[in-house]
Amino acid sequence: MKNLKFAVLPGDGIGPEVMDVALKVLRTASNKYEFSFDYDFADIGGVAIDRHGKAFPESTFKVCENSDAILFGSVGGPKWESLPPKDQPERAALLPIRKAFSLYANVRPGLLYKELTSLSPLKNERIEAGIDLVCIRELTGGIYFGQPKETRILENGDIQAIDTMVYKKSEIERITEIAISAAQLRGKKLCSVDKANVLETSVLWRKVVTEYVQKNAPEIELSHMYVDNAAMQMARDPNQFDVLLTENMFGDILSDEMAVICGSLGMLASASLGTGKNCHNLPYGLYEPAGGTAPDIAGKNLANPCAQILSAALMLRYSFGLEEAALGIENAVKKAVKDGNQTGDIAQEGVQPIGTSELGAVVIENLNA
Ligand code: NAD
Repeated sequence: MKNLKFAVLPGDGIGPEVMDVALKVLRTASNKYEFSFDYDFADIGGVAIDRHGKAFPESTFKVCENSDAILFGSVGGPKWESLPPKDQPERAALLPIRKAFSLYANVRPGLLYKELTSLSPLKNERIEAGIDLVCIRELTGGIYFGQPKETRILENGDIQAIDTMVYKKSEIERITEIAISAAQLRGKKLCSVDKANVLETSVLWRKVVTEYVQKNAPEIELSHMYVDNAAMQMARDPNQFDVLLTENMFGDILSDEMAVICGSLGMLASASLGTGKNCHNLPYGLYEPAGGTAPDIAGKNLANPCAQILSAALMLRYSFGLEEAALGIENAVKKAVKDGNQTGDIAQEGVQPIGTSELGAVVIENLNA
């Protein structure tokens, strides 16, 4: 029987309450799909500042280092907003943890069930069947990290700011590998997004992606699209995409556009995969909801636990290779929501919203069925 070892970092706001539900769902899944798991809790974000004086303390790093994956809640809230920006939870916890584990691949499913299409700002006739795609974003390269990155005063007194977009073949290949894995588990269709008509990095990106897919996964149907067109197509007909692959800045923008058209942050999970392999020879990864700590509803049993539950399912899929269990959880969530078990953020007309733990209980019931 496979034993999973992961770190549990609930964080702040709604983090602990949605994490509690996700762990209960994992317990049920472990009985049904016959795996076992151990986890260690650790503090991250505001709660870690309060208890340890630092948003990402050494003790938390050690717990993560001794695990095969990280299940993460979210961090931050009004209590810590008056700290200097560099000490605030998001900046002082999220960026360092991504760096510490070289998390270079962000996997974001864009999912909207057909029963919830009224949540989307898109016209319903465009998304009658709901939305279902995955965006794979390179996370540690490109213009956010390239050097030089500075502001200079020129001889004539003018001021010049520089950001540098850099990509190496090896960086493009490793993210393409992740996109291929995602496409193989879905419709085997991959669309790579770039700006190869203008940018050198995009010319290399397109060449490397094409060659890598041809050589390693010829069964994948590969297409290419310029980023400006991709942004339009996402709003026009998101279901033309199965898996989207793109570099850091384009992915930042496109994945947020995708989140908006999918309606509620409470339903969206994400995975950030690292260069390291865990003891199962699968990517080490951090799994977290796409939303934040939702201070407005924290501690009231109002938060939607689905994003956290679906993040746990992604962990089973990508870091532990338990596809059947991951799908089982995803289907249990889908059935719960379709049957009208909805928290306030997704409640459809005529549906009486239920609480965080109640929705979790229905997911567990569906898994057990
Ligand atoms: P937010 O995502 O926390 O909330 C935005 C809106 O979405 C709120 O109305 C909230 O109630 C709702 N929402 C979010 N998740 C929900 C869920 N699971 N169920 C129901 N409703 C949900 O964004 P914000 O208000 O801009 O930020 C709040 C705090 O979270 C800030 O401190 C911010 O820095 C932090 N934050 C953290 C992360 C992270 O840890 N990755 C990401 C974004 C924001």
